[in-house]
Amino acid sequence: MIPASFDYVRVSSLDEALETLREQGEEAKVLAGGQSLLPLLRLRLAYPGTLVDLGRVEELRGVADRGDHVLIGAMTTHYDVVASPVVREHCPLVALATATVADPAVRHRGTFGGSLAHADPAGDLPAVALALDMEFVVRSAAGERVIPAADFFLDYLETALAPGEILTGVRVPKLGPGWGFHYEKFHRTAQAWAIVGVAAAVRRSGGVVEEARVALTNMGPTPVRATAVEQAVRGAEPGGNGGAAGGALRAAAERADEDTDPPADLHARPDYRRHLARVLTHRALLAAAG
Ligand SMILES: Cc1cc2nc3c(=O)[nH]c(=O)nc-3n(C[C@H](O)[C@H](O)[C@H](O)COP(=O)(O)OP(=O)(O)OC[C@H]3O[C@@H](n4cnc5c(N)ncnc54)[C@H](O)[C@@H]3O)c2cc1C
Repeated sequence: MIPASFDYVRVSSLDEALETLREQGEEAKVLAGGQSLLPLLRLRLAYPGTLVDLGRVEELRGVADRGDHVLIGAMTTHYDVVASPVVREHCPLVALATATVADPAVRHRGTFGGSLAHADPAGDLPAVALALDMEFVVRSAAGERVIPAADFFLDYLETALAPGEILTGVRVPKLGPGWGFHYEKFHRTAQAWAIVGVAAAVRRSGGVVEEARVALTNMGPTPVRATAVEQAVRGAEPGGNGGAAGGALRAAAERADEDTDPPADLHARPDYRRHLARVLTHRALLAAAG
């Protein structure tokens, strides 16, 4: 439980961080809140040559209203995301899901960008990023690029970030009026990782579902967009739970595990996760559809 030795550099600006990464090459890694990286170091599952601590890079913190989207700085803590009036007003799904992350201690240290860059399939925020079509703003010594959420999560703990790149912030599109949101999470104990989670955004007009976005947590090595559900739920009238209207949402939710590859672990077998995905998707659709 003792990490391998590494050099430690505490930087105070993004430019300094990028320059340090450029100098140190592929052996360097950035440190954000340390809530996921420090356990990996202690287990020697990660052994970077140099840790570049972003903790004092103030320009990467904070939430800004940018008109058609909200920009969340990568180093904004989960606590600050949940407390932000801008996030609550314009991206309530982000606030709902982030409030379920771990416990207050972790939420005060862990960061929005760290959670997404870590890309743990059991993490709550990657599915939300996929459902909302967020955009990841990335910088390196060579310049800036923007990666759509659909292209960001490549495999288990693997993202499109290249060595030397830092996630500086995430653009969350504002979806506008008529949308309802819900994040439904099934966990073994309160304040724990998701066994399965479902992020849902539903737009209704005249009592009918016109559009839905649904993404799943922990149903594969990356977050998964439940496109079969999104198509099946269009045109449904979510007026009631038990009758034909509620039945339409239930029928759509039955397709939640299509094209998924749920893992087997100490908490659940794949078939149980498939069952959970269907049940939780129904609940999430009902709640998001109001
Ligand atoms: C007890 C416990 C329970 C938890 N429960 C949950 C939970 O229920 N749901 C959930 O979603 N998460 C949970 N987490 C994880 C938590 O959300 C972490 O905050 C998060 O996974 C990592 O964020 P961090 O800021 O601590 O990143 P770090 O641990 O510092 O870094 C994680 C990885 O991301 C990279 N990285 C970080 N920031 C950047 C950046 N800006 N650019 C490029 N790369 C970057 C690092 O190099 C590292 O590889 C839990 C953690 C703990 C310790």
